[in-house]
Amino acid sequence: KEEKEVIQKPSILGSLEQELHKRMLDDRIREMFYLVHSKAIENSTKTLIENQMISLMGLSAKLEKLEGSEDERIKERSKITERIMKSIEKLQNPESCKNANTLVCNLDKECGFGCQLHHVTYCAITAFATKRMMILKRDGSSWKYSSRGWTSVFEPISKCTAVGNTESKPFADPSPARVVSLGIVDSLLTKPAFLPQAVPEQFLETLHSLHSHPPAFFVGTFISYLMRFNAETKEKLEAALKAIPFDQGPVVGLQIRRTDKVGTEAAFHALKEYMEWTEIWFKVEEKRLGKALERKVFIASDDPTVVPEAQKDYPNYKVYGSTEIAKTAQLNNRYTDASLMGVITDIYILSKVDYLVCTFSSQVCRMGYELRQPSGSDDGSKFHSLDDIYYFGGQQAHEVVAIEDHVAQNNQEIDLKVGDKVGIAGNHWNGYSKGTNRRTYKEGVFPSYKVVNDWRRFNFEALLD
Ligand code: GDP
Repeated sequence: KEEKEVIQKPSILGSLEQELHKRMLDDRIREMFYLVHSKAIENSTKTLIENQMISLMGLSAKLEKLEGSEDERIKERSKITERIMKSIEKLQNPESCKNANTLVCNLDKECGFGCQLHHVTYCAITAFATKRMMILKRDGSSWKYSSRGWTSVFEPISKCTAVGNTESKPFADPSPARVVSLGIVDSLLTKPAFLPQAVPEQFLETLHSLHSHPPAFFVGTFISYLMRFNAETKEKLEAALKAIPFDQGPVVGLQIRRTDKVGTEAAFHALKEYMEWTEIWFKVEEKRLGKALERKVFIASDDPTVVPEAQKDYPNYKVYGSTEIAKTAQLNNRYTDASLMGVITDIYILSKVDYLVCTFSSQVCRMGYELRQPSGSDDGSKFHSLDDIYYFGGQQAHEVVAIEDHVAQNNQEIDLKVGDKVGIAGNHWNGYSKGTNRRTYKEGVFPSYKVVNDWRRFNFEALLD
């Protein structure tokens, strides 16, 4: 009972409104920086304004750490993570395996590791929302990444094994069938209310005050449950982590997705673009800490030319990259045990860095971002994406709500009235976002600072158990 009270009203924190405004201030400063950064202004004026904004961002970051007790916030966030984890564990390990309501998920979706893991995460969230245990089809033994299956790298997701010959029915909610099979998210005719980016209503208020991206926090908790590494993997990951001196100041993680993705699902971005935002972050961090910082980056990529390029062109940076073995294996054949270990290692390290620069169009990068969220600290805004805003494949429409009126200044822009809901398509990282006003049905751009996220809520009953 005591725990519940603490979670619902963390006394140490400022009022919800105060916390929200602090976050909004931080957001607004960043949006203003994007606006200035994208404008063609005379060079010395631009540098002056940008430096002033970097100083402001540093101050805002400092305020976040100073206000109230950061330790207490970490404790409160961790309590929520633990509570969700415990609820997942309970559902995943029922007293009777053969009587439990079950959802069967096919791990071997025809796509890359990030995409497969996101599919399993979607299964896990669906199972959780409908109070079913989730198991992998044939216990995940059939997996193109490893002949040894899911448990070659992870802990089993349940103490129960495959449902044997019990016939499963296609997923429906509700469904009287004890065992249901879930297809891919794209096959759903209507989007259930529990799909990302829904947040448990039990925690939404508290998470709002504690975390800058509650939906990613919730999704991240499921991913960290699924990605509980087995002993062999843990050992390898710890060794990989040790090779990077995290104890000697901050490291920025870059994930640079190239090869088959470029020109099909995403645009090419030069290393220079990633390094530009890395350098900005280091400058902000120097303002926050009031001291000079050594420049260190970890680069994850499917393109083996990127690490040598960074080492050559950025001599003032210490550059760390994925192991050569994993790289070679990945290039020769993407679906091998070595390439599996390579991508897991990269995602794991990306979840440990101090700041992330990548393209959110890549599922590998989004996984690194998600996996770091339940860590205790608020890492919701510790990233810069060169393309998309955060999303979860197959999600419900992501909506924002206008907090200021806006009158379109040209035919690209749309009007906003306070309270208007807008389905958001993206942020152009130039002070403007694009979306569709649900009231006027008009699609266009508007200043990003005039809206805030309107997260969906869902009553995940399994959390109350
Ligand atoms: P997406 O295509 O980037 O959205 O992500 P997917 O995970 O669905 O597919 C990309 C696949 O390419 C991954 O599963 C990896 O095998 C490989 N890959 C992409 N980026 C990286 C990376 O940064 N590091 C490693 N090791 N592999 C990557």
